[in-house]
Amino acid sequence: MEIKFERYHLQSDLRSPLQGFETISVPTEVRIDPLTKRRSRIITWALPPQDKFDFSKMAEESKGCIFCPENVLQKTPQYLNEISADGRISFGGATGFPNLYPAGTYGSVVVLCRDHFLNPSQFTSEIYEEGLSVSIEIIRRTMAFDPDARYWQISQNFLLPGGSSILHPHLQVIGDPIPTNEMGWLLDASSSYTQRNGTLYWEDLIHIEKGLGKRYINHIGNVHWFVSFAPIGFNEVCGSVEGHGSITTLAKEEIASLAKGIVSTLKYYDDKNLNSFNFSIYSISGETTYQLLLRMVSRTPFRSNYMNDCTSFEVLQSELTANIIPEELCREIRPYFA
Ligand SMILES: [Zn+2]
Repeated sequence: MEIKFERYHLQSDLRSPLQGFETISVPTEVRIDPLTKRRSRIITWALPPQDKFDFSKMAEESKGCIFCPENVLQKTPQYLNEISADGRISFGGATGFPNLYPAGTYGSVVVLCRDHFLNPSQFTSEIYEEGLSVSIEIIRRTMAFDPDARYWQISQNFLLPGGSSILHPHLQVIGDPIPTNEMGWLLDASSSYTQRNGTLYWEDLIHIEKGLGKRYINHIGNVHWFVSFAPIGFNEVCGSVEGHGSITTLAKEEIASLAKGIVSTLKYYDDKNLNSFNFSIYSISGETTYQLLLRMVSRTPFRSNYMNDCTSFEVLQSELTANIIPEELCREIRPYFA
């Protein structure tokens, strides 16, 4: 095994006006991802905590949107017959349909529930089980007539800071015959690791992280939940599903385990007054060296005078930042997975 946890300690000295112009030292840590070798910058200071934002006015003003139950079947696009004869794919409270403004070969929206707005703590496992089941059915049916579409993401952009203009909770399901950058990096690095070591990186990582106990949160069924050594976003939590590279082969219990982990993370976010988030499931078929990964990050919470969390570091230096020490996040979030 060649998994290395490399880090650099940086330090900035200055005379602080908050402490009578005494000299203080502010540490920063740069960590190198053991798989992709990408650098992450862990900022050790935090902006003061915010109160919970009251969304009731925003929710009231925007209800009756195109994803609300009275509109969703009237105002959203329908699938071609090859995918669904009745135009949509539904399960429980979740409804999937093509994205009117796709960003690739196959783009779908899955409306997660009939409720127009939910706070992060109001999402239930059932909501995600239904939403993921619809997403998986979309992918299975699409791949049945286009097996070249092997690269899929199931993602959620929640609230404006997460990149969504519509409050009503929904997922994006996007598939292509070519990978995204992130999928390409994960695949290339996983495959070279296996070539060099003869083992699966993801199994080795989970084995090591379990042994160290500092970033391994817990397992739910055969989904392993952990905090990345070198996170690429704020409060990043990852889940990896043992024995699968594509989400299309998951059994019902495995879908439920993914859903539970998402909801546990959202409860933690809500307790920290973090109201906006993104997650992506990177689903890739036909690759034996890759293991299905879900990555979830919080975004700067929505409030008036909202500050975007992508600075020149992320946008122009391709250096991703995190604002909590990974081992501290793991310690804090572990009770939510008990
Ligand atoms: Zn709505």
